[in-house]
Amino acid sequence: LAGIRRHFPVRDALGRPKGAVRAVDGVSLRVAPGEVLAIVGESGCGKSTLGRLALRLLEPDEGNVQVLGQEWTALSPRALRAARRDAQMIFQDPFASLDPRMTVAAAIEEPLILHTRLSRAERLKRVHELLARVGLRPETAVRYPHEFSGGQRQRIAIARAIASNPRIVIGDEPVSALDVSVQAQVLNLLMDLIREMGLAFILISHDLGVVRHVADRVAVMYLGRIVEEGPAAGIFAAPAHPYTRALLAAVPGQGAAEAEPIRGEMPSPIAPPPGCRFHTRCPFAVARCSAETPELLGTTHKVACHLAGELPPAAPFAEAHTG
Ligand code: SF4
Ligand code: MG
Repeated sequence: LAGIRRHFPVRDALGRPKGAVRAVDGVSLRVAPGEVLAIVGESGCGKSTLGRLALRLLEPDEGNVQVLGQEWTALSPRALRAARRDAQMIFQDPFASLDPRMTVAAAIEEPLILHTRLSRAERLKRVHELLARVGLRPETAVRYPHEFSGGQRQRIAIARAIASNPRIVIGDEPVSALDVSVQAQVLNLLMDLIREMGLAFILISHDLGVVRHVADRVAVMYLGRIVEEGPAAGIFAAPAHPYTRALLAAVPGQGAAEAEPIRGEMPSPIAPPPGCRFHTRCPFAVARCSAETPELLGTTHKVACHLAGELPPAAPFAEAHTG
């Protein structure tokens, strides 16, 4: 992704234009084959919008999307449908992402019909292989999504997502709607498949325990912008941006007697604060912060903060917490 921007027009009660939600404002990211990139931030920071932009499920106002060196931004609707073979999404809600009128077999077969030339018999064989791969029995194929639990449905959604042999998968909170007891199983399954298939995986998540567990690289998003990005180990051991620090400190069990909530409310994305968007909540803010927008600077570990490098070191994220 390069310089992606997406604003949603907002109207008042009388339908008059009232401005725009700057959901994603000039974000550039890259993910390599075999790499797990996590995009983290509070709800409303723009991370789900970013995921949809990356697969052109939403059209960007500005910026480019490239997948495997192919410029997706310029593709016709038809070419885009074909290109979707390479990039799939797993949504948060397995109840909503599967068509209730389709059998499990039909749901998994659909991408095979769209993207392969397999015969009907070959497709059914593949459906059974895919079910086995996600740990479901072959009998599952003739049943309907509502007959399954959330965890099983998400397994079905995963089978469907990998059916076309994509090269990149985006998971938007793929386990956060599931019972805590099955989250780890489904996540481990997903990660095994991602690693086996050598996929590029973008994990959109607000759950830092999960992210810490699986991510190679982390991008922290605040009000439509990336504020910190780098290797997961580096970010968890030495978070540099005050917002990242606040996010990590807000996770229960981080040494402090109580999790420290981030002070203040997230400002409206319709009128984000000038300068550094975090300055209204930042404990380190100086005059310059409300006047000048900090750029995302650095080589592997990048930070968008005027005081980066001058702040006292932060406490590392506790080893014990795994979510
Ligand atoms: Fe805080 Fe200023 Fe850094 Fe923004 S630029 S995070 S307000 S210190
Ligand atoms: Mg979301």
